[in-house]
Amino acid sequence: MQILDGKALAKKIEDRVAVDAKTLKETTGRTPGLAVILVGNDPASHAYVSMKKKACDRVGFYSVTHEMPADISQDAIENTIKMMNQNTSIDGILIQLPLPPQVDTTKLLELVAPNKDVDGFHPYNVGRLTTGLEGFVPCTPLGVMELLKEYNIDPKGMNAVVVGASNIVGKPMAALLLNADATVQITHIYTKDLKACTLNADIILVGAGVINLIKEDMVKEGAIVIDIGINRAPDGKLVGDVDFKNVSSKCSFITPVPGGVGPMTIAMLLQNTLRAAQAHAKES
Ligand code: NAD
Repeated sequence: MQILDGKALAKKIEDRVAVDAKTLKETTGRTPGLAVILVGNDPASHAYVSMKKKACDRVGFYSVTHEMPADISQDAIENTIKMMNQNTSIDGILIQLPLPPQVDTTKLLELVAPNKDVDGFHPYNVGRLTTGLEGFVPCTPLGVMELLKEYNIDPKGMNAVVVGASNIVGKPMAALLLNADATVQITHIYTKDLKACTLNADIILVGAGVINLIKEDMVKEGAIVIDIGINRAPDGKLVGDVDFKNVSSKCSFITPVPGGVGPMTIAMLLQNTLRAAQAHAKES
C-alpha cells in the first residue's frame, strides 16, 4: 500500500506557482489577484477562507475577502460580484459555499465572469468540462487528477466509482474521469447497493461527508481509494469518509485525511488563479 501524499505535491505546485507569479510580475507588472466573498459566521467557511488567504500570501498573490453578514440581501452580493467582474486587478472570484438559505446560490455563481471563475462552478465552465474543452475545472476534483498523475496512475480503462454527486465534487470528478477514459459509475444517497458498486471498482473516489462510509468489506483487494471527505470526528479530529485503519491494508494506493486531497484543493485554486492572471495579462 502506498500513501498518495497530497501535502507534498501541493507544496511542489505552490513553489512552482510562486516562481511563475514572480515571472508574470516581472514581465507584465501584473500580480495575480483573488477576491473572496464570505457570508455569515460558519466556522468551517471562515477556516477555509483563512487557509486560502494564507496560501495566496505564500505565493505572492494579492487577495481580498469581502465579509458579509448572514442576513445580507441577494442584491448586495450581486452588486459586489459585478464590481469584482469590473475590477481589473482581480483575476479570480471565489464565493465561499454554502451560502445562507435566503440567497440564490445558482444565480450568484452564474454572475461571476467565466474568465474569473477560478472555482469552475459557472455553467459555462461546467459545460466546457463535460465536453472535454479547456476551461476552469473545480479545484477539488482537479487536485485528485493531479495527484493521480504524480503517482503515474492512469484511470484509462479502470472501473471508477464516484461516491457523492454534488456539483462541486462528485459530478466534476466523474466528468474528469470520463474524459480520462475511465468507465465511471456515480453513486449517491439513493444508490440501492453501494457495496455492490464499490466492490467492482478499481478506483473509488468518495466525497459524501459521512464518517466511515467506506469500510473494509466494500473494497476489493488492490483498489485505489481517494478520500475527498472532510469531517470533524466526535474527538475533534479531522477524518475522511473512509475507515482508513481497516481499508488501507487492502489498497494499492490511498489518500490520507488530512494531508491528501485537502491541500491539493488549495494548490489548484492557486494554479487556476495564476492561469487567469496570465490570460488577463495577455489581453491587457
Ligand atoms: P454535499 O452534501 O453537497 O454532497 C454529498 C453527496 O454525497 C450527495 O450527492 C449525497 O447524495 C452523497 N451521499 C451522502 N450520504 C451518502 C451515503 N450514505 N451513501 C452514498 N452517498 C451519500 O457535499 P459536498 O460539498 O460534495 O462535500 C462532500 C464531502 O467532501 C464533505 O465531507 C466535504 O467536507 C468534502 N469536501 C472536501 C473538499 C476537499 O478539499 N477535500 C472540498 C469540498 C468538499
